Amino acid sequence: MSFADLGLSDELLRAVTEAGYSEPTPIQAQAIPPVLMMKDLIGIAQTGTGKTASFVLPMIDILAHGRSRARMPRSLILEPTRELAAQVAENFEKYGKYHKLTMALLIGGVNMSDQIAALEKGVDVLIATPGRLMDLFQRGKILLTGCGLLVIDEADRMLDMGFIPDIEEICTKLPAQRQTLLFSATMPAPIKKLADKFLSNPKQIEVSRPASTNLSIDQSLAETTSRGKRDTLRDLLQSADVTTAIIFSNRKTTVRDLAQSLGRYGFKVGQIHGDMEQPERLRELDRFKGGEINILVASDVAARGLDIKGVSHVINFDVPWHPDDYVHRIGRTGRGGASGVAITLVTPEDAEAIEAIEKLQGHKIARRGKPAAAEQAEAAEPKREPRRDRGERREKKAEAPAPRAARPSRAEAAPRTEAAPRAEAAPRAEVPAPRDAKREDRRPRRDDRRRDFVEDEPDDGWNGPVPSFLNVTLG
Ligand code: ADP
Ligand code: MG
Repeated sequence: MSFADLGLSDELLRAVTEAGYSEPTPIQAQAIPPVLMMKDLIGIAQTGTGKTASFVLPMIDILAHGRSRARMPRSLILEPTRELAAQVAENFEKYGKYHKLTMALLIGGVNMSDQIAALEKGVDVLIATPGRLMDLFQRGKILLTGCGLLVIDEADRMLDMGFIPDIEEICTKLPAQRQTLLFSATMPAPIKKLADKFLSNPKQIEVSRPASTNLSIDQSLAETTSRGKRDTLRDLLQSADVTTAIIFSNRKTTVRDLAQSLGRYGFKVGQIHGDMEQPERLRELDRFKGGEINILVASDVAARGLDIKGVSHVINFDVPWHPDDYVHRIGRTGRGGASGVAITLVTPEDAEAIEAIEKLQGHKIARRGKPAAAEQAEAAEPKREPRRDRGERREKKAEAPAPRAARPSRAEAAPRTEAAPRAEAAPRAEVPAPRDAKREDRRPRRDDRRRDFVEDEPDDGWNGPVPSFLNVTLG
């Protein structure tokens, strides 16, 4: 199957080729033809399967015919977060480079005057987060009666973020005669209900899960606290029989910090995250595959699409926000029937996320409690935690052996017995700034769309600048 078989225009095919895509993903292959035929569609496929292009590409060809009118966007794409919205805009820019489509992006955290000016003139595509769109609609700046095509993207995430009532209301502002596309990684009941109500006779496409839970993976939860996470992780890396491990974190900044920190402790560690260019990621991957490093700290999106399977351990430093990501992550271990180990660090704040994962898998995950090393260390030295956390005695670190000197490589480290002195020797950077600690522990919430655009966000796969044609100024 090639893109040329899907009925897309030559200009579009040229742009796709130039973007470096040689073959459509399964969801693209199945979704593009019916969308081009103006059918309503429900597309269910995991995160990272290419759902964006499965609506952006046919939309470009559909919108190539016709003209936009003042204040009446011709199509509307709803996204749960501004990162995803901006990523979709970027896709339009990339694939639409041989078309003359106009666009506006309505997302929180950016200066809106240019966008409103664009809307006043009329746009072919409006990409928005529900909250921002509702604001503008209520201020009479926009009419949705000319909107013949609606995309509700990442519907399950919309649900998580409490956007369903907004979406329902937005749907009622659009003409009844329209094409509606809904994309989601999962299909929980409220999304099904939404689809029943607002889509007419939709074609449903479901791409099977790439990774259902592999039973040969030994899964467990390691209880810790947000402050104790790094200690717990190091204990695990030393006590568990780790030959190769991927450590997953929810945020790019955590990936960076964690890799640095582990490196200081003498682990042979590399990193891949969304701020790195693909060649750089591949280089790290080669170091990992070649055995130069045996620990790779990764974010979900950066790890996706990379062929890193068959590691002895997957450790979730953060519980993933999306249960599907959990399945993806742990699928990196346990190759070809061999058993693998997946350990997830959990803090009391993660209870809800763990529940969602257990529900998805249909079974509970065993708790391993604190690793023995940490317990022993604590029993021997009960004041260890508070002392280190307060940070005021950090200058005393010189009294303890410097961590790097003490353990030049992981292989030389004798597990357990050295746990306590090592913890005492935590270098300065180990004490997290309170702001960061707090942010790392947060699940995305509805009002996150009002947070500063440039701040550290969940790694949703888009890390680039706001597309230039939007002329958006950061606010
Ligand atoms: P989803 O919305 O399903 O989570 P995206 O549309 O964001 O996934 O795509 C995930 C990644 O896959 C993106 O980096 C995108 O550039 C890439 N991608 C999409 N389609 C293709 C393709 N046909 N070939 C190669 N890479 C693709
Ligand atoms: Mg998507």
